[in-house]
Amino acid sequence: MRILIVEDDDKTANYLTRGLSESGYIVDRANDGDTGLTQTLEGIYDFLIVDKRLPGVDGLELVRRLRERELTLPILMISGLASIADRVEGLQAGCDDYLGKPYAFSELLARIEANEWWRHGHDHRRNPRVRDLFMLWMEEPRGLAWIELVSPDAQAWLLGWMD
Ligand SMILES: [Mg+2]
Repeated sequence: MRILIVEDDDKTANYLTRGLSESGYIVDRANDGDTGLTQTLEGIYDFLIVDKRLPGVDGLELVRRLRERELTLPILMISGLASIADRVEGLQAGCDDYLGKPYAFSELLARIEANEWWRHGHDHRRNPRVRDLFMLWMEEPRGLAWIELVSPDAQAWLLGWMD
C-alpha cells in the first residue's frame, strides 16, 4: 500500500515516514498543498495523510479539490486544531478520518489498518504482506519492481501461485 504524506513540517514528516515504512508501507511525502494535489492526481496512492495547515493550498482546500475531482482514496487529516468544530469541518470537506495532535503513532497505524479492513475485507490481517504483494501485482502487471518491496515469504508464495 502506497501512502502520501502531505506535511510541511520536516520533523513530523520524517517521523511519520520512518514509522510507516517500518510498518511495511511505501511512503512518499509532499511539502505543501500544491505539490500534494499534483502528486495525488497521479493516481498512484492508496491512502493520503494530510496536515491541515499547509503553505499554499491548505489541507482542507486540498481535500475539497480532490473530492471535486471524484478521487475516492481514503484521506486522514492530522491537526493540532481538533475541536469538535474542526473535526466536523474536516469530515465535511471530504476526509474519512481526523486525528488531533498529540496522538500516539499506534493510534494512527490502527486507523490506517481499520480503513484497509473496511475497504478490502479482513483476510489480509492474517498475512498483510501477501495481500500487499498481490495488490501491487494487480496494479502493475507489466512490472516486476514490486518484488523488492515485499518479504521473501510473500515472493515465494506468489511465485508458487503463478506456476
Ligand atoms: Mg503544517
